[in-house]
Amino acid sequence: MAELREYPKMKDIYGSLVFDQKEMKQRLPRDVFENLAGAIEGRQKLDSGIADTVALAMKDWAVSKGADHWAHWFHPLTELTAEKHTAFLMADENGNPLNSFRGKDLMQSEPDASSFPSGGTRSTFEARGYSAWDPTSPAFIIKSKKGGTLCIPSIFIAYDGSPLDMKTYLLRAMQAVETRAMKMLKLFGNRGVRYVHATVGGEQEFFLLDRPRAQKRPDIRFCGRTLVGSPPPRDQKMEDHYFGAIPTRVLSYMEDVQRDLARLGVDLATRHNENARCQFEFAPQFTEANLACDQNQLIMETMRKMARQHELRLLFHEKPFNGMNGSGKHINFSLEDSEGRNLLKPSTNHRKNVIFLSFLSSFILGAADHFGLLQASISTPGNMYRLGGHEAPPNIISVYLGDAVAGMLRAIDDGVDDESVKVTKGTLDLGLPKLPDIVAFDSDRNRTSALAFTGNKFEFRAPGASQAMAVPVMALLSVWAAGMERFIDLFEQRIDNGEDPVEAAIKTIRKVSELNRNIRFEGDSYSLNWQEEAERRGLVKARTIPEGIDLFMEPSTIKMLEELGVFSKKEMAAFHTIRLEHFVKSLEIEMSVLRDMIWEGILPAISKQILLEKESSAAIEGLSLPGLDRWKKLLLKLASAKLDLLEKSEELTELRDKMARLSTREHAEEIVKKAVPLMREIRAIADSAEIFLSAENLPYPTYRNLLSLSA
Ligand code: ADP
Ligand code: MG
Repeated sequence: MAELREYPKMKDIYGSLVFDQKEMKQRLPRDVFENLAGAIEGRQKLDSGIADTVALAMKDWAVSKGADHWAHWFHPLTELTAEKHTAFLMADENGNPLNSFRGKDLMQSEPDASSFPSGGTRSTFEARGYSAWDPTSPAFIIKSKKGGTLCIPSIFIAYDGSPLDMKTYLLRAMQAVETRAMKMLKLFGNRGVRYVHATVGGEQEFFLLDRPRAQKRPDIRFCGRTLVGSPPPRDQKMEDHYFGAIPTRVLSYMEDVQRDLARLGVDLATRHNENARCQFEFAPQFTEANLACDQNQLIMETMRKMARQHELRLLFHEKPFNGMNGSGKHINFSLEDSEGRNLLKPSTNHRKNVIFLSFLSSFILGAADHFGLLQASISTPGNMYRLGGHEAPPNIISVYLGDAVAGMLRAIDDGVDDESVKVTKGTLDLGLPKLPDIVAFDSDRNRTSALAFTGNKFEFRAPGASQAMAVPVMALLSVWAAGMERFIDLFEQRIDNGEDPVEAAIKTIRKVSELNRNIRFEGDSYSLNWQEEAERRGLVKARTIPEGIDLFMEPSTIKMLEELGVFSKKEMAAFHTIRLEHFVKSLEIEMSVLRDMIWEGILPAISKQILLEKESSAAIEGLSLPGLDRWKKLLLKLASAKLDLLEKSEELTELRDKMARLSTREHAEEIVKKAVPLMREIRAIADSAEIFLSAENLPYPTYRNLLSLSA
């Protein structure tokens, strides 16, 4: 019998590899700790004089945990993270080994920036950039087989100060939303609040495949998705997978991921099967926005590493399989004040509920004014295939509130200013007297909407699974800050005129409800009606991903972001270029890989099948059986598929070469107009031939083969 191994309990290892506040408090002199804690909360600036003391404590802690290197850990403008390791160990002046890590190492580091995308803000010879410690996200240790690396979350900027990473923009957006939220609370007379933080919880969907099988497919290896292959007849039609038992092999993987992440202080609160076969989801416990974005990167990295150990191939791609559900990263978000109050929580208390509705209305107003930025933030290559089908929201931004909250706004519109604008709690009668009552959830679910209010938070459902969260979170918080700015303008005027804050807020909410009506939609966003309605409302500004990326450069968006201090126009122009380049590059890879798979695998396979059919039909030629022409038809089908593939794949190669001479923007446009439809055609031909290939002639594992996790 297999020996049962003892695994450490989650609660004993939780946070053991994080230099968290508890650890800081223990290891730092009191005044140093107070200063650092204040900086982390955002109450005061970090005093750089304490850096040496913090560095020493951090190093001692890290070394005690077996770390032998340190690195500034940052997010360049790709979707990944980067780090450059430096050893703690150095020789002192007498040649004796010594672990060294000084304050200035902690504060700042100089990785060579030349190989990270900058969108043309700098030339390569001005390659220098530096990373600077972000104390608001705690340092942590990534263990390796023989040691470990102390990772210091950092921002990454060029020498002229322009950001080369996403975190800097995110932190600016957080700042923008916080100052306005504080102001809003003050206007309500709430003066005790020390800070307001954005909270974020990102649900991460993914696919897991058997690694040896998956790695036989170049499309999965290089693109993370299938470029050819037809879905098996029964894929998800039975819907037997969702919330079903997690396969043992996957569960064991998930447990290992959860344990490693627990050590890093990441609490993966839920895990379950997702809709499609071999699709799953992890959702962490939500936390402060900056940390949540860092944690999502850690979650993805840990999942990748662990998948290799379990002989699994992990896919974060938004649309790995044709005709099946894609993977999203639903971003749940809200605001929380220093007293731990969720500002998007409806309340039975009238005043509190009006505060809630003010924050809610502000967000909707910002979204109505600047939905272009939200759409831009999710315009990624993978989402091109995902949005608009199979449970993913359409590529149109709208806000869904649900009956309860939509009802409150309606009541305010109708002129009800009184106590009735509050939540009434109901219970669901299950007709089962022995079970306790279930409290009715404040909002029903609408899975078709890009942005939905879900009880006490918003959920942005459009972001793709492979995206770094920092971009959409930056967009959400900027939009919210802009909405609050406008709300506060109207609200403050009334207060200045001596109105009572609660009444003034209700009147402002009523006014704002007119201004933001455009973006609100309570119906089914999949329906054709909605497409037309959205056109009429002017919500369809971009129909393709490159057009979506262009929305970053909309003059009203730039103006808003400049006013909030999140992006300058120059910074945005660089960022826009990087996003376009990223789109073009991923599609170029897909084109080459598809071409190679056709030539290396599919065309030869068809030839082999033709030979097989020809040989066997020749063997019975003299028999003059009825129906022999069916055989001929099969040969004809195979031969014409081969000819079509030859023609179309040559066309693709020519197109690729021709497009390479275009500017990035034109290139992106041509990809959408010509390359994507051509690749779709090629796929259709290849897939129609695939079903006639015998098992030994199949060049790559099929969908059926891939989508089964049994050994
Ligand atoms: P569902 O799949 O039903 O939408 P999950 O429980 O899978 O919900 O995920 C909900 C996510 O929302 C979790 O990551 C959770 O921590 C997060 N969340 C809950 N409350 C908040 C909040 N106030 N702010 C931000 N995120 C939140
Ligand atoms: Mg959800």
